[in-house]
Amino acid sequence: MTYVITRLCTRVGDCVEVCPVNCIVPGPTGDADWPYFYIDPDTCIDCGACAAVCPPVAIFPEDELPAEYAAEMETNARFFSEGPGYWDFNLERERVRGT
Ligand code: SF4
Repeated sequence: MTYVITRLCTRVGDCVEVCPVNCIVPGPTGDADWPYFYIDPDTCIDCGACAAVCPPVAIFPEDELPAEYAAEMETNARFFSEGPGYWDFNLERERVRGT
């Protein structure tokens, strides 16, 4: 199983700091195709640490994902298969959109 970041994400970035396997990556600032942070479902160990520290409560376990965000499970996976994936980001620069 994996956790999923939804469009409720406001790019706070605390999730990145607590993930024990470093599988959360921000979409590059200004990239309209990837405006949120994303979880690699193949690496996530389902610990829940990210969801516990997310101020906007944007992260859900896959099996508790509200129906309106169901499509975002695939979006998270696609970020790593077709999108920027594990790019060399600077968290301080990327954690707040537009800065
Ligand atoms: Fe990382 Fe744990 Fe969140 Fe998975 S559930 S993305 S392993 S912090």
